[in-house]
Amino acid sequence: MVERQLLPKTVRPLLYDITLEPGLEPRLHESVATSDGVTSETSAPAGPPAGSPQHPGDTEDEDAAFTFQGQETVELEVLEDTSSIVLNALELKIHSARLNGVEAHSITSDPDAQTARLEFGQKFAAGTRVRLELTFQGILNSKMVGFYRAKYQDPESGTVKYMAVTQFEPTDARQAFPCWDEPALKSRFRITLVIPSDRQAISNMPVEQETVRTSDGRKVVRFEETPLMSTYLVAFVVGEFDYVEGRTAEGVQVRVYTQKGVAHQGAFALDCAVKVLSYFTEFFGTPYPLPKEDLIAVPDFAAGAMENWGCITFRETALLLDPERSAASARSRVAEVVAHELAHQWFGNLVTMEWWTHLWLNEGFATWAAELAVDHLFPSWQQWMQFVSTTFAAALRLDALRSSHPIEVEVARAQQVNEIFDAISYCKGASVIRMLANYLGLEVFRNGLCRYLNKFTYGNASTDDLWQALEEESGKPISHMMRSWTRQTGYPVIYFDDANMIVRQERFLADGGSVSHTSRVNTNADSDSNTAPTHWVVPLGMMDSSQPAVPRYFLLDAKQAELQSILGTASNASEQRWIKMNPHQTGTYRVNYTPEMWQRLVEPIQTKVLGATDRLGLAMDAFALTKAGILPASVALQMLAAFSKEDDYACWLDVVGSLGELGAVFASDEPSLRSQFDRFACDLMRYTAERIGWKPEPNEEHVTALLRSLLLGALVKHADSSTVNEARRSWKAEQDGTDRVPADLRLAVMSAVVQYGTDADFDAVLQAYAQAVMDEERVRCIRALGCTRDPAKIRWLLDWGLDRSQVKSQDAIYVYSTLAANTDSGRRATWQYLREHWSTFYQRFGKGNFLLSSFVSSILRDFSSEEAAEEAEAFFASIPDKERESIQRTIQQSTERIRANAAWRQRDMHAVRAWLAERCG
Ligand SMILES: [Zn+2]
Repeated sequence: MVERQLLPKTVRPLLYDITLEPGLEPRLHESVATSDGVTSETSAPAGPPAGSPQHPGDTEDEDAAFTFQGQETVELEVLEDTSSIVLNALELKIHSARLNGVEAHSITSDPDAQTARLEFGQKFAAGTRVRLELTFQGILNSKMVGFYRAKYQDPESGTVKYMAVTQFEPTDARQAFPCWDEPALKSRFRITLVIPSDRQAISNMPVEQETVRTSDGRKVVRFEETPLMSTYLVAFVVGEFDYVEGRTAEGVQVRVYTQKGVAHQGAFALDCAVKVLSYFTEFFGTPYPLPKEDLIAVPDFAAGAMENWGCITFRETALLLDPERSAASARSRVAEVVAHELAHQWFGNLVTMEWWTHLWLNEGFATWAAELAVDHLFPSWQQWMQFVSTTFAAALRLDALRSSHPIEVEVARAQQVNEIFDAISYCKGASVIRMLANYLGLEVFRNGLCRYLNKFTYGNASTDDLWQALEEESGKPISHMMRSWTRQTGYPVIYFDDANMIVRQERFLADGGSVSHTSRVNTNADSDSNTAPTHWVVPLGMMDSSQPAVPRYFLLDAKQAELQSILGTASNASEQRWIKMNPHQTGTYRVNYTPEMWQRLVEPIQTKVLGATDRLGLAMDAFALTKAGILPASVALQMLAAFSKEDDYACWLDVVGSLGELGAVFASDEPSLRSQFDRFACDLMRYTAERIGWKPEPNEEHVTALLRSLLLGALVKHADSSTVNEARRSWKAEQDGTDRVPADLRLAVMSAVVQYGTDADFDAVLQAYAQAVMDEERVRCIRALGCTRDPAKIRWLLDWGLDRSQVKSQDAIYVYSTLAANTDSGRRATWQYLREHWSTFYQRFGKGNFLLSSFVSSILRDFSSEEAAEEAEAFFASIPDKERESIQRTIQQSTERIRANAAWRQRDMHAVRAWLAERCG
């Protein structure tokens, strides 16, 4: 058991009164001392590379030139007699500290523990209330954490300007003001911002008072006092905005803030937000507790969005839509992210996890609730099916690794928290909640949630508290069932044999091994990962050909069970009937059938007797079981081939993903095999792609637009000549000014011209990037550029991705992940580049956010040789411990995944080759 590093419990904060004054212009040639005692001298930036203009504030060196001044008063309750105070502070210079008027005689900092210690030389008695007064200074950094600056262009003059914005979750409020930065130490906050007179300030609460400071004309904006809340949810933003405004049926004011001149791009998010806020108010049976809700687009933003109470911040692609310029996929994204963040306003903000171990309560729940809300708003989007092919699939993929972790995972240090913002917390969390909601029925589940929210309003809770509320509501042994899912790593594969009607469960592992085989388990992994799970309490369901519409369920609470006695129905294997387990894929498990049973399931996929989610589930399970070596490759390939007449988007999402994986592992480095494989892939997609065509029908379904983008993109990737030709034709029409490629097709079209076109085509896409007015288009262009196969262009792109005058830090990941995903040579070059420029990547992305993990996992993901795994291990062993700390688990997971790929390649190369030769030879 790892021990949590917590602050001493000598005092407890009750009310913070904080005033901050950010400098939005660089202060040149000034030295700035930081709390770790390092004095950094502002130096002139190294000369920019020729041809790439650099703006002031572009380099890390210049961080120190952007500072903010702060003062705060904190009302404290003294819990134990004490003469000193220890609180969190990072990269802050504390100028002075007074406690009830007594000046601190020493102020020291511990950068590793991220704390400051104030000694007063006088005892303050337990049970009293005291007042701590601090003045301090910090850095308005460019790393998208803490209190940071985001760059934008003035729409009229074109000059570069900065806004100031916060990102505190999980542990960076301490970079903005000294504080007790733990989620359980809730307090009230009064925020005041001193800002230039031409800027606006937004915070959690509405503005209470705005005055002008006579000495320099700056605006002093004071906000109303917040309710009790955790530090990580405090937020403030200073910038220039336009907004659109609405009001919920319950009277809550909702605004979407954009940059000047593009307020209309917030209209869709506003519409979603107003409706979703009302929907959740009813669903949770508790009113939204704040008087207003603001949703703010931030031009530089590491994550998708942040649920700060009443002051939600977003990266632009997760909030803004332009009816003329945005793709259907952007519409889905905005609706999902807005709903996710609004779910947090109750789940996370009103009731907060008591420690980061229960982060999944926030994230898993918000992910699940977002689907519920979007499904409510847009029933025709088939949101839950897409959930299965995206969120559910991601959970099962990651959790099949030995180096995965339990949903409830102990984290000791602030530096380790970021790493658990992963597919386990979000996707497996959401998947087990969906399983539970389905098992209990939505109404009972909802009532249990309301009970939980009521009991812990403005407080903190743990996972067990939720189970207890649901247990009280349902009368079922929820704790027993759910602990098997949240405290054990992994999930089961159910083996089902209908000859004797026996089901048996075992942990599913990506490499097909058994749990007892632990030779590659890293001993540094937390002990939970190494504990062999016993079994899971699985709400098993099944449906069969006699009554496909009537699934039957029972609870499997043992390693093995005999179904006949439980279900009370005789089964006769000789009937040639099919049986499908896990109806609608609501259970977090995979199923393996006997070879005969798999065979019998092919037809109901082709004839669509099985619903889309069940077809999808079979494809997912067959593919994963094949990768793990449990099924022969022919089963997965035959299963894929059964989708040739498929029309469902969610099914295609999975099939296209599987084709990509197959191609990367088996056909990436052998041209003749590649062309056979591409032919197989294109033939599989042709029927549906032709039926959908290039031109949208008037009023067609949202999912049809999504499917068109997906299939045309995949046909381009697999080198379908007619698709590539049509793509090049429509690109030329746009270049000639005779037509414009619609948003839904732009990625496929630009990828085609980059991949199969000329230097001039590449330059034209680069030009489109430079002229783009929305991040959505810029990201599309980056992803298209990353499709190049030209080694010189790959090299050029690798440098370009780190040039912050060209590519925003938040978007650099797309450059490298696309290059690594696209070709064998691109992958090798990108991995080489990451190693050569490691310190730059670490400096820029490694501090306090999770982007570094994304770089490592996306660059390594598709390698498939033992040498590559060893190379990765050797490299990461050579970097300093401190640089490895926040990506420890990612490194283990990446190398484990590479080895699973390598084993798969070795095992099935011959079978895949033979199968392709027979079909496409
Ligand atoms: Zn979230």
